[in-house]
Amino acid sequence: MRTAIIGAGIAGLACANRLVAAGHDVVLFDKARGTGGRLSTRRVATARGEIAFDHGATHFTVRSPEFRALAREWMQGGHAAPWPVAGLDAWVGVPTMNAPVKAMAAHHKILWSSHISAIVREDGAWSLYRASERIGPFDAVVVAIPAEQAAPLLSLLDFGLARAAMAVRSYPIWTAMFAFDRGLKGLPDFFKSRGPILYGVRGNARPGRARHEHWIVQADWTWSEAHIGADAATICRELLSALGQAGDIAVPEPFFADAHRWLFAQPSGSDAGHLWNAATGLGVCGDWLAHGYVEHAWRSGHELGATMTRGARSSSALPQDLARADGDADGPLPSIQSGSLR
Ligand SMILES: Cc1cc2nc3c(=O)[nH]c(=O)nc-3n(C[C@H](O)[C@H](O)[C@H](O)COP(=O)(O)OP(=O)(O)OC[C@H]3O[C@@H](n4cnc5c(N)ncnc54)[C@H](O)[C@@H]3O)c2cc1C
Repeated sequence: MRTAIIGAGIAGLACANRLVAAGHDVVLFDKARGTGGRLSTRRVATARGEIAFDHGATHFTVRSPEFRALAREWMQGGHAAPWPVAGLDAWVGVPTMNAPVKAMAAHHKILWSSHISAIVREDGAWSLYRASERIGPFDAVVVAIPAEQAAPLLSLLDFGLARAAMAVRSYPIWTAMFAFDRGLKGLPDFFKSRGPILYGVRGNARPGRARHEHWIVQADWTWSEAHIGADAATICRELLSALGQAGDIAVPEPFFADAHRWLFAQPSGSDAGHLWNAATGLGVCGDWLAHGYVEHAWRSGHELGATMTRGARSSSALPQDLARADGDADGPLPSIQSGSLR
């Protein structure tokens, strides 16, 4: 089976892993220039040297046995490590948050800078549009992108799948990045929920990072939404001041400051897990089909891959065209990271 996967974040890659392991031919398309999706890293050249900011997810939790086994593999390969500072089951990528996804991506054929604007089905085969270029044919297509971006792609193809995407809403997060010439005393290496700050993280306190004092400051959803149209300079000014207030300290002028707005940072989520239309060969995975975290995204793609390989062996493997699969091995993932986000 030849499959196209739109989106090379952790969900799309987890699905690809499963399909390739079963002998399928898989190609991934991603509109970004490089790896990570929302687990990405911003590398900045400063007068004091390069600093890599984990400006997407700052850590992830590892809860299910299957994901723990994968995290251990990452650790053995030097791509991830536990970071209990953020919680007993918290992990980080090493030396950057996108390292585990990079390790996954190394095994796949991925076309970067490839924004897919339409999917079409003709004579029982799928094709994709990258600008005016038509790419195909494919036997199956997987859409592994945030709900708001998935809905328009799906709406002309499968209203059931599109409706699932339309029912989800993603919340924005503004992330500010600061680097200083001296350490900020009076703040812990990690804190959450102080004023408008959801998470404050001292980047250089994490394994494998640049030694220069640098901070990632994520604003909460309400604050981010209220400041959605603000410019990066305003966000930096306000979050720098919030950082000082969080530690009741005078924060020095940073030698680097910038901000990134994630429009679709974390979804309201759903319980579907993943979706697969066996009749047409159209699948959907991503964090929004669970509850918006890295482990959920991985599991969604991993289980969609399993469902698809079962479906490829026998087209009647699923009881209905639009199957809501409940997972193969250890049942639904327990609700994770409760309390870390509102
Ligand atoms: C600021 C922030 C903080 C977070 N904090 C945490 C946390 O503390 N813990 C946690 O577990 N999770 C956290 N998350 C959520 C976590 O990052 C996501 O749940 C997870 O990375 C989602 O993976 P995904 O593969 O579903 O989607 P993504 O990582 O978004 O991957 C989708 C990919 O699709 C690509 N794409 C989109 N549209 C198209 C298109 N039309 N054509 C081609 N490519 C396309 C994108 O470029 C992207 O690479 C956070 C996210 C953000 C942004």
